[in-house]
Amino acid sequence: MQTRAEHWERLNGRFDLLIIGGGITGAGVARDAARRGLRVALVEAKDLAHGTSSRSSKLVHGGLRYLEQMALGLVFESVNERRVLQRIAPHLVRPLGFLFPVFDGASNPLWKINAGLFVYDALSLFRSPKLARRLNRAGVLAEEPMLRAQGLHGAPLYWDCATDDARLTLETALDAAAHGAVIATGARVTGLLRDAKGTVSGARVCDVRSGDTRDIDASVVVSATGPYTDALRRAAYGQTTTPMLRPTKGVHIVFDALRLPVRHAVVLRHPVDGRVLFAIPWGPQTYVGTTDTDYEGDADHVAADAADVDYILDATNHYFPGRDLTVQDVVSTWAGLRPLIAPPPSDGTLSASAVSREHQLTVEPDGLVTIAGGKLTTYRRMAAEVVEAAIGVWEDRGGDARRLRPAGTAEEPLPGGEQWPGEAGVETFIDATAAISGLPRDVAAELVRTYGGRATEVASLALSDPTAGTRLHPDRPEILAMVDWAVREELAHEVADVLIRRTQVFYRAKDQGLHAVNAVSARMGALLGWTEAEREASAEAYRAEVRLHRDGWAQPQEA
Ligand code: FAD
Repeated sequence: MQTRAEHWERLNGRFDLLIIGGGITGAGVARDAARRGLRVALVEAKDLAHGTSSRSSKLVHGGLRYLEQMALGLVFESVNERRVLQRIAPHLVRPLGFLFPVFDGASNPLWKINAGLFVYDALSLFRSPKLARRLNRAGVLAEEPMLRAQGLHGAPLYWDCATDDARLTLETALDAAAHGAVIATGARVTGLLRDAKGTVSGARVCDVRSGDTRDIDASVVVSATGPYTDALRRAAYGQTTTPMLRPTKGVHIVFDALRLPVRHAVVLRHPVDGRVLFAIPWGPQTYVGTTDTDYEGDADHVAADAADVDYILDATNHYFPGRDLTVQDVVSTWAGLRPLIAPPPSDGTLSASAVSREHQLTVEPDGLVTIAGGKLTTYRRMAAEVVEAAIGVWEDRGGDARRLRPAGTAEEPLPGGEQWPGEAGVETFIDATAAISGLPRDVAAELVRTYGGRATEVASLALSDPTAGTRLHPDRPEILAMVDWAVREELAHEVADVLIRRTQVFYRAKDQGLHAVNAVSARMGALLGWTEAEREASAEAYRAEVRLHRDGWAQPQEA
C-alpha cells in the first residue's frame, strides 16, 4: 500500500534528509538518497509533479537549440542521460523522430543544421535512439504531408525521446518509497526549524487537508521547490534576499490529432520572432508549444491566456496552412514556469529564451541545501550532486557515510520498468493484459502505456470487482480501476491528482474530464472515507482547475 495516510503516519521522528518539493528534482533526490540508505522524508505541498514537472514539453532530449547557444556540456550530459532514462524507464521514455524543416530565409541554412545534427549524434557517442538522416523537400513532404511546401528546402530527421513527465516524477518517488522514504503529499512547509546555534534542523509542515501542523526534525534540509525557490528563501532569510530565479512561463496547446496530424515532432521557428516551437504527436492528440515569456505573477495560478494561444495558433497555421485551426480546435492547454537561474546583473538584457537552463546548487552557512534550475532530462545527475552535497552537511552533523551504499540509480529500473517486455514485446503484452482481465484491447493498451510492467496488476483489479472496468468517459480508455490504483498505490488524494497527473484525462478528453468528476470523486470518497462535503470540495476544486486553464482564452466547458 502507498496511500497518503500511510505515509503521513510515518512522518515522525528524526530524518537524515528532509526534502521540500515533490517535482522531478525532489523525487530524484529522494530516490538517490533512499537507495543509498539515508533516512529520507519528502514533503510536497500539493501533489507529486503538481508544479513544473507535469507541465513541460515532455521531452527527454539533448536540446538541439542548446547546441546553437554552444552549451556543449549541457547537451553532452543530456543526451547521455537520455540513454540512462531509456534504460531505467523504457515504458516512459520512448524514441521520437524529430523533423527540423528549413525554409527560404532561414537564419541557419540546411547544411549547417545537418552539420549540427552530426555533432548532436556525436555527443551521444552515436548512441542516439536512431542516427539522423537528411531528407530533401520531397522526402519531408512524404513524411509530413500537411507541412507547408512553399519555400521548403529539406529537413534532417533526428531522434530524441518523449515521456510522461508526471509519471516519471511519480515513479521516481515511488521507487524512493520502496527504499524506505516517506513521501508526504498535501504537506506544505510553512517555516524552517533552527537549533540554538541557528543551523537549520527541520521544518514545520502543515497538513493541507486537516490544517494540523507538525515539526519534522532532520539533519539536512533540501529545498527542491522549483519556481517556488525564492518564496522559500524569502521565508527563511527575509524579503530582501537576492532572487535566485528568473522564472519564465511556457504554454502548450492540445489539438485532436485528426485536426493536426503529425507523424514526427516537427520543429517550427515562429514566423514572427523566430523562436523554436514543437508540434508533437501524442497518440490521438497533438500538442504544440511552447511560449517563453517572463512571469512575475502567482506561481499557483499560472495559466494560458489569449495572447499565448494566439501566438501558438499563428505558428501552427503558418506551417500547416491547410488546417485553419482556431481556438475552437483547442482541446486543452497547460502552462508551467521554468525555474531558470537568474543571470548575473551584467546579463540583464538577455531575452527569456536565452536564459541558461543549467542548474544551481547552494549550501548556505546554516546548512540549507537549495537546488534550482536544470531540466527534467538531467534530473538524475542533478539529484546525485545534491545528495553528495547533503551528505557533506550530514557528516558535519555526525552522520557516518561508511554505512551508505551506492545508489545505483542509473542501472535499477523504476517500478513500471521492471518486467517490461521491450518495444518488440509490447503488442503481445497488451494482448495478454486484455486476455487475463477480460478488458477491451484499447483499455489494456492504455494500462500498458501508463503502468508499464505493472499493467497486469491494475488490470487484475477488474477481475475481483466488475465495476472497476467502467470507463471514466464513453470515448476514453481510462477505467475506474485506475482511480483505485491511484488512491491505493500512488498517493492520490484529490480528484485533480487522478484526472490530471495519474491519468491524462484533463488534457485529452474533449470535456476535460468534467463528465467523470462525480464518478471519480464518489469512488475516491468511498476509498478515503470522505464526507459528502469533502467529496464535493474535491470535485469542485477540479472544476476550478479546468476553468483556470480555459478562462483566459475560451468559454468554460459545460459539465
Ligand atoms: P517543480 O516540478 O515545480 O517542483 C517543485 C515542487 O515544490 C512543486 O510541486 C511545489 O508544489 C513544491 N513546493 C513549493 N513550495 C513548497 C513548500 N513550501 N512546501 C512543500 N512543497 C513545496 N525539461 C526537459 O528536460 N524537457 C522538456 O521538454 C522540458 N520542457 C519544458 C517546458 C516548459 C514549458 C517548462 C516550464 C519547463 C520545461 N522543462 C523541460 C524543464 C523541466 O520541466 C523543469 O526543469 C523541472 O520540471 C523542474 O522540476 P522541479 O522539481 O525543480 O520543480
